[in-house]
Order: sequence, then structure tokens, then C-alpha cells
Amino acid sequence: MTAILVNELVKRYGAFEAVKGVSFEVPAGQIFALLGRNGAGKTTTVEVLAGFQRPDGGSVRVLGLDPVADRAAVRQRTGVMLQEAGFFPDLTVAQTVDTWRDFTSAPRPREEALELAGLKEKAATRVRQLSGGEKRRLDLALALLGRPDVLFLDEPTAGMDPRARVDTWEVVRELARQGTTVLLTTHYLEEAQRLAAAMAIMDEGAVVAAGGMAETLAGLRGRVAFRLPAGVRPDDLPLPVSLDGELAVCRADDPDLAAQTLLTWAAGRGLRLAGLEVRTATLEDLFLDLPRSAR
Ligand code: ATP
Repeated sequence: MTAILVNELVKRYGAFEAVKGVSFEVPAGQIFALLGRNGAGKTTTVEVLAGFQRPDGGSVRVLGLDPVADRAAVRQRTGVMLQEAGFFPDLTVAQTVDTWRDFTSAPRPREEALELAGLKEKAATRVRQLSGGEKRRLDLALALLGRPDVLFLDEPTAGMDPRARVDTWEVVRELARQGTTVLLTTHYLEEAQRLAAAMAIMDEGAVVAAGGMAETLAGLRGRVAFRLPAGVRPDDLPLPVSLDGELAVCRADDPDLAAQTLLTWAAGRGLRLAGLEVRTATLEDLFLDLPRSAR
């Protein structure tokens, strides 16, 4: 079943077209990542899906419903974590959750929501005293309250330390295992790669690349990098490389094989490939392969 459907979506702010005919689908239970640099149109797309904005063209469906026309039904089954939450700074974390529980039908118990978001120890803390990352966790706790079928997360781990980020990924994975569909936007490519089964990259309001994560990564070239030995010119090497400062970078379908070729070549000349780094493709490589304008 398709949980989220975006079909030729157009959204304008005055004369400015922020989203220019974007299409993608997210099957129920999938984690989907929307990527792209600042101003690409990711938040606008999420806001339309969450029913906060009306499309100017095309259509969107969430659980088969129109987020504007069927607002109440969609609200009841979705959770939203946008970039800037409006909290009351003088309320404690527990009071904030309780206030939101009053507006949520069949909410999770407060303890469960705080536990899931990793905020149990902060229940008695006033919101104004939370760190930036902790505020994001409170956002997450509130988005989870109504046991949503679909969760929209706009940069969910912005400002979180590495430990909190990993913990949040685990929460998102657990929700997906329980059947929740998750659409997230992120600037952290590693986050998208580790979490999402599929993704779309937006740029200037359009999708410039999209697909399943595993298939996309499998189709990309890996990377071998090392410091160019003194006296060696790139042309001397047995494989083509590009220079990134003092690093020689070789892009290859099979980076292990490329590394072997380079090491054998170096050994034959008594050279070392200092700082040798061999890795399979990452989403970063996809970004680097996109046209410069789309990065
Ligand atoms: P970021 O990664 O920085 O969050 P984004 O991909 O989420 O960016 P959007 O917030 O959707 O991008 O913005 C897309 C474009 O629309 C930007 O150029 C932005 O300046 C513009 N925009 C967003 N909201 C409005 C608004 N209310 N009025 C006018 N222009 C807007």
C-alpha cells in the first residue's frame, strides 16, 4: 500500500516557485529520505503533506487522503516534527507532554513517549533549560504521542550530539518496524544512508535523483584515496586519479581491486601509499556525481 503519494506537486510563494512538479511515492512502513541543500524545497513539500500548505498544482495523498480536504482524519493519523517548534519555555517537559496529550486522541502514556525520545531524566526540567538537541527530542516525543501511522520528520537530529543521533535513529527504526511510515528530511547523508530504504534528492524545487537506497549505492563507484608519494605525478599511476589537495582520489566500481592494483604498482617501486583509504560508495559520492548546480 502507498502511504504517501506526491504527484507533480507545485508550490509557489508569490511569483516564486519553490516546488516545481515533484513526484515520489512512499510505501507503508518505509523510511524515506528527502535530501537536498538549503532552499531545495524539502520543508515546503513536507508542509504540504502535513496539510499546513495548499498545493498550487498537482496533488498529494497521505494514507489515501487529501491533507487539506480531509484535514482532521489526516491529522489524527500523522505525527509532525517541523524545524521550529513553539514550546512554552516555562513549562516543564512533563507539563508540555501532558498539554499535548490533552489534544491527542488515544495518546501514548507520558512515560512511554519520554522513554522513546530519551527524555525520561528531563521530565521535571523547564523547556527553556533544554539544550538544542534535547528540544529536538521533545519535538520527537510530541510527534510520537498519537501513535501515528505516518511520521514527518524535518531534520530530526539537527543539533544532536552523535550519541543522541544514533539513539534517535534507533527510535525511528523501531517505529518503522512497528509499521509507521516515515518521511524525513536531513542534511546528514550518513543519516539518510543508515536509515532510509529509499530517497529523493531535490534541488531548486525539482527531484534530481531518486531511488532505492541499496540499488542506488550499488550503482555508484567507490573511492580509493591516498597521499601522492613525493616525486610521483598523477599520470605515472596505473589508474586515473583526480587530485583533492595532496590526496589522489581514484573512483572505481570495485574499489578493492583498484586498491590492489595501486598497491602492487607502489610495491614494485618501493613506494608507500600513505593514508590509504578504500571505501564502497556512499551517498556523498552520489552528491559529488550530481551536476555542480545540484550540490
Ligand atoms: P532547508 O534545507 O534550508 O531547510 P528546504 O529544502 O527545506 O531548505 P524550503 O524551506 O522548502 O527549503 O524553501 C524552499 C524555497 O522557498 C526557499 O528558497 C525559501 O526561501 C522559499 N520559501 C520558503 N517559505 C517561504 C515563504 N513562506 N515565503 C516565501 N518564500 C519561502
